[in-house]
Amino acid sequence: MKQQYKSYQQTCDFLQDCVKKYPNLITIESIGKTWENRDIMLATISLNVENADLKPAMLYTGTVHAREWIGNELAVSFIDYILSNYNTNPKILRTLTKNTLYIVPCLNPDGFEYSRTHFSFWRKNRRPNGDGTFGVDLNRNFSVGYGKSTDTASNVYSGPQPFSEPETSAMKNFVDNKDNITIALDYHSQGNVFFPAHKFNHEQEIDGTDLNTLCANMNYEIHKVTGRIYGIHRGKPPTKLISGSGREYYYSRGIIAVVVEVGTRNIPDFMQNMQESIDENIPALLKTLGEAQNYSKNAPKRVKNFHIKNVASNEVTLSWDYDCDKDIYFQIFRNTENKEACNESNLVCETFNTEFTDIQLQSGTGYYYYIRAVNNLTLVKSPYAPKTKIKTLLEPDEFSKTIFPNPKEVGYVASKLSESNRKHFGLNSLFIGVNETKGTSYGVMQFNLDSIPNDAIIKDVRISLYPLNRVNAKIEKFGEWSISFVDTQSVSELSDYDQINNAKIIETLGQTIPSEQLTQGKWSHWDFNESEKDILQTQLKDGKLLFKISGPTSLPQGRDSQMMMFDLGYGNFGGGLHYRPSIDIKYTIPSKEIVIDASSTVSVYENGSIDENLICGFDANNNKIYGSFDFDLNSLPDANETIITDCYIQIKNKSATKTKQDIRYNIEFVDVENISYESIQNRDRIEFIGYEVSRADLQKKKTHKFIFDYYSCLALEDVHKDNKNAKFIIKPTSSDIKNHTVDWYGIDSKNSVKLVVKYISRRKVAVNQVSNLKITKEKSQVKLTWENPNCEDFKGTYVVRNRFHKPKNHLDGDKIYAGMDNYTYDDFGSVKIDKYYGVFTYDNVPNYSEPVVIEYKS
Ligand SMILES: [Zn+2]
Repeated sequence: MKQQYKSYQQTCDFLQDCVKKYPNLITIESIGKTWENRDIMLATISLNVENADLKPAMLYTGTVHAREWIGNELAVSFIDYILSNYNTNPKILRTLTKNTLYIVPCLNPDGFEYSRTHFSFWRKNRRPNGDGTFGVDLNRNFSVGYGKSTDTASNVYSGPQPFSEPETSAMKNFVDNKDNITIALDYHSQGNVFFPAHKFNHEQEIDGTDLNTLCANMNYEIHKVTGRIYGIHRGKPPTKLISGSGREYYYSRGIIAVVVEVGTRNIPDFMQNMQESIDENIPALLKTLGEAQNYSKNAPKRVKNFHIKNVASNEVTLSWDYDCDKDIYFQIFRNTENKEACNESNLVCETFNTEFTDIQLQSGTGYYYYIRAVNNLTLVKSPYAPKTKIKTLLEPDEFSKTIFPNPKEVGYVASKLSESNRKHFGLNSLFIGVNETKGTSYGVMQFNLDSIPNDAIIKDVRISLYPLNRVNAKIEKFGEWSISFVDTQSVSELSDYDQINNAKIIETLGQTIPSEQLTQGKWSHWDFNESEKDILQTQLKDGKLLFKISGPTSLPQGRDSQMMMFDLGYGNFGGGLHYRPSIDIKYTIPSKEIVIDASSTVSVYENGSIDENLICGFDANNNKIYGSFDFDLNSLPDANETIITDCYIQIKNKSATKTKQDIRYNIEFVDVENISYESIQNRDRIEFIGYEVSRADLQKKKTHKFIFDYYSCLALEDVHKDNKNAKFIIKPTSSDIKNHTVDWYGIDSKNSVKLVVKYISRRKVAVNQVSNLKITKEKSQVKLTWENPNCEDFKGTYVVRNRFHKPKNHLDGDKIYAGMDNYTYDDFGSVKIDKYYGVFTYDNVPNYSEPVVIEYKS
């Protein structure tokens, strides 16, 4: 009864018109008759449409559920857009040259018309069930995972048997007879979220990256139009998975299949909202139609064994396998978030090689890498290899901690729930926003900072929340979600609504999430800016951080909910540890300073040395005189735990002979065994220290500092590790000069040449690996056991699972466990699937060990 929307009959008439106008581009057919004898119309669109079945194809289905009108409306608009623009838009022309679109605007015409004219929120088809009730949920009537139900009145009644309905059996017939379909999109409402297909287990699939990236690339197009970001949610344990849906049937036939949930209501305001949904989805649809060819039988094969070969703090080397083919090159994409697009904006490499080093990365940062093979002649691409994730190493002076709230210190407080707020802390999801039953609702989370030293110097901070469900955020572009620092002194009871509502806010983080960018299944992150880091810095002395998460607090006329649900990671409703809110803090600590006097000084002349003084310059025969000095580093702490952050040599000159010549002096860090004129002339130079000083400098001031660069600090650490003295020479840089010398203070109680070292104590290398790693099957679960290393600095193990290759990095796969235990179960993994497990140990930095890897064979 909303006039702007096209009816079933108008849609059929529109398709007829299209065929008349564009006979080369479109054909239509009825693929079946409904219970009420309506035709289920399917359009085929391609350039030279008579060849359509020979090209790779995308299948579009709309309005499977009667009340989800977007499916039909978007289909009509998309067809109209393609046909009226193909001859002026080269992108459409290219796309239709190589790909075919099969499109069913409305798979449930009976239900759709019933919804349009009688009962707006009708969902099923119009099968007479014989008991006075009507309808089968078509999206429960396909065969994969079909669940038999007897409640015919139910909105999700699955029908007497799989494909009992004319609509679903028509789809089955069509799809079974078309082996060129490579992608299927099923349009529903609502939620602004993509639901890619899955295989009813929680293991990575070979095409999992394809599914997520297809959605992410659509998201990229959507965002360009309206700024909106859809969620991408593949279903996660232990959530029950939908049975008998069309998506799973298409996927079971090797088709990349996705449900797209559009909008925030089943039947939105046409002018305000539906038009936006249509406008943002058309470019996304066109993009995806162009991908059909990349999943065809003739597309290049997927890259194998895409893995991390090497990781440093600022670079990563990736490597992969491919059967030799001179026409194939590779595209590598890099993202810092999961489920982001792969396109020109993040393409970091194109190469014919099978190895690539990515440079200028941030330390201690997670990166996702993706790879595709491309045929250089046809430009047809392969599917994606499973993505790989790494975390770059920390810089030598950095530490990082991921902190989770305790269960009693995370939850939500709602204005209408008062007393019961306490009960759901650490149990229910975080409901944040406003609705009729809960009233205004805030999230509360407190982090204990015991693991961070009070004097830590904060470098980077990120808060992460996992958006679990946005289906109750029902209003488009209304409200935003934000996080505020709360003065911990102003709250004594975290679960008290009034206290949280009136808590003293120190500052609200600058970054907020507007409603149209609330995603589902895709993490939300808040990265702190400098002033926010400063606040955290001052909070360190409190030993804890308290945050209040706020959404909208009022609703417009006639609306009942704008409520967002974030995962708590505790309780029966959440997804466990993986999805717990967290704060990641990267920091360093203040350095200590130590001043070391030279242990010996020598002036070295061509014909002999003089101990305990320090002269350099030129003798009467134009020969250089070298000053040599060294330092005993034993007063520094254990070399394995000493990171030198800054260092300089301080040296003072007593006197210098006067000259107008431009004579300059410098200091070299050298590696010589015994000091003699000959050994110095043949010296191994490690590095110059700082810059040279001139005669003029010597006259202006007496004290000179020679500052170590980064490399020289590392070299000094090495000398310390080798338990040697650090040796230096000071000498003129000029030549052909006679009888000029500088007399430096050598070993002298007050003025001695000094080495000033700033350092921090931090482990440089990981603790030992675990030993005796074993794998067993217990209660139809995989169980891993091992022995932890016996070391004070051991802080835990990190266990990951990877179906495709041996994990090389602790993020290279699905996280199974992190902690101090010596065993773990793989709760959600399938015992029927071969895979690798990697166990890494870590210390308090953390440095991660090389993994101990074990292969599981089903
Ligand atoms: Zn639906």
